[in-house]
Amino acid sequence: MQQQERLLKVLVIGDLGVGKTSIIKRYVHQVFSQHYRATIGVDFALKMLNWDHKTMVRLQLWDIAGQERYGNMTRVYYREAVGALLVFDMTRLSTFQAIIKWKGDLDSKVALGNGRSVPAVLLANKCDQRRHGLCPKLPKLENFSREYGFVGWYETSAKDNTNIDAAITCLVKNIMSVE
Ligand code: GDP
Ligand code: MG
Repeated sequence: MQQQERLLKVLVIGDLGVGKTSIIKRYVHQVFSQHYRATIGVDFALKMLNWDHKTMVRLQLWDIAGQERYGNMTRVYYREAVGALLVFDMTRLSTFQAIIKWKGDLDSKVALGNGRSVPAVLLANKCDQRRHGLCPKLPKLENFSREYGFVGWYETSAKDNTNIDAAITCLVKNIMSVE
């Protein structure tokens, strides 16, 4: 039987320095680097997933770059996206507060064919920094993520490779179950 292919455009959004590029690099290329390099323009990485016996998923992870400072992206960028990873840095409260703004931007600019918002997963990144002190003012993410309509949330570390696969698999499962 011929496998069918599904192309999924997934956006990775959140403030500058939260680890978006690192998460994509970890997931797609299994690498991590301390070297800070602000990406310029829009970049995307591709990962093929043998989803089930019938389906091959071409997962396109879109990295925004250099445009984070404006707190929003253009409609053109969001076009045809079927899911999103919203990332913040657990050591910086301002990046968490920005999540509400990013989720609003996403939902105002893209929706599924049936009018519902595209599945989004919340990533609380840099959880490896726990011993150096995480942000004390973070609320319970379980409640927050439900209130703001995320399909799931994970504490992640691109550095230690914690929950990156789990978070992305959760998103893809949700996307694939929408149909
Ligand atoms: P972006 O601007 O959101 O794309 O963020 P980057 O991926 O460029 O990461 C910004 C900085 O945070 C870099 O120095 C990364 O090495 C670092 N970083 C990213 N993810 C993690 C993580 O999970 N843990 C730690 N400790 N540092 C991270
Ligand atoms: Mg980047």
